[in-house]
Amino acid sequence: MSKTINFGIDLGTTNSLIAKFNKGSVEVYKNPVGFKETLPSVVAFRNDRILVGEKGRVYLEKDPKSTVGQFKRKMGTTESYKIKSLDQSKTPIDLSAFVLKELKTFIHTGETPEAVVITIPASFDMVQSNATKEAGHQAGFKQVVLLQEPIAASLAYANKTTGNELNNSQWIVYDLGGGTFDVALVRIAEGELKVIDHEGDNFLGGADFDALIVERIVVPAIEKKGQFSDILNQLKSGSGRLNSKWYALLASAEEAKKELSTKSATEIDVEVEDDAGEVISALISVTRSDFEAVIKEAVDTTAEMLRTILTRNSLQPSDLKFVLMVGGSTYIPMVRNRIKELLGIPVNTDIDPTNAIVIGAAYYAGNKPLELSEASATVAPASPLKLKVSYN
Ligand code: ADP
Ligand code: MG
Repeated sequence: MSKTINFGIDLGTTNSLIAKFNKGSVEVYKNPVGFKETLPSVVAFRNDRILVGEKGRVYLEKDPKSTVGQFKRKMGTTESYKIKSLDQSKTPIDLSAFVLKELKTFIHTGETPEAVVITIPASFDMVQSNATKEAGHQAGFKQVVLLQEPIAASLAYANKTTGNELNNSQWIVYDLGGGTFDVALVRIAEGELKVIDHEGDNFLGGADFDALIVERIVVPAIEKKGQFSDILNQLKSGSGRLNSKWYALLASAEEAKKELSTKSATEIDVEVEDDAGEVISALISVTRSDFEAVIKEAVDTTAEMLRTILTRNSLQPSDLKFVLMVGGSTYIPMVRNRIKELLGIPVNTDIDPTNAIVIGAAYYAGNKPLELSEASATVAPASPLKLKVSYN
């Protein structure tokens, strides 16, 4: 009996997920606490307790100096995060390993897998890839196979459609998540899915949209109601009087943003103390078009990157089958419409933007043999040399 890896993990900047391939289909596991498929990639350190996920996210507001999120952006760098409550630093690898360990608790079958497929952005170089592998080993996996996210998304789509629709074709995977934007040109060549080219921005995603709502809509509305000097700095600076309010406002902005994907207007309820010590309350209304105006520039930047890929590969929009949308921020109607409008390529929203990558990872894992020999169980450590690797 040949054994396969079966387990797949989407180790995301904002959210992580785990799934298993079983007899031809894929199950995305749910968090036994809260029954959601997504685990926020946030780790909080509370004295001797480590809180990962939703519980960690709560501490972003309460204790931002002992809570870390978005650490995938720093994978493969030598940067680490100072954790105030521990008086220690943690590396992006350590933090990712905590997320991976937490995902293992979602497996309700009692299995403890020793092998896993973990997805990485197409833009990850050798150092970032090795860092991801190391996080997997630190979390107790002996065999870690990496898979590029646009390939995973394409596999999820391919397994959803019947027939050979994708044969001899090429398409774009447009992934707009919480922290990063990645766009990739994918093609089937000799029966193999390949990323031909990619572009992206490590600092463009849904979290930036939340910040734009606070900065451009919420803050100007509060400023009108009370006495504030330099309110943005008081909110955003770690030592600012209103720093923990900043995280609360971001959370309210995110809620409002999600509502605006299906509704034309919503409200943000704010209570904040002004410089004179007076509590200012405001119910700020936000319409879908207000929101669209603040994100337009960012969305147009993503379209530009897509165009860059087309030009670099001498392709016309008509050469592409579609733009496959993934990542939570592609729920935003304007994102879908703008890409269609600016590029004239059909937008494909057939896969679930939240779990497509983990589903593709599990399908891949269902075909990948287990190799848990002594040799594969020992891993080359991430290179101590600081090399920048680039390839076509
Ligand atoms: P990542 O790949 O960074 O881990 P995800 O693909 O899970 O992230 O996307 C998370 C982002 O998607 C967050 O910024 C979240 O606010 C946003 N998001 C989720 N659902 C919606 C929605 N319905 N409308 C708009 N944005 C959404
Ligand atoms: Mg993602």
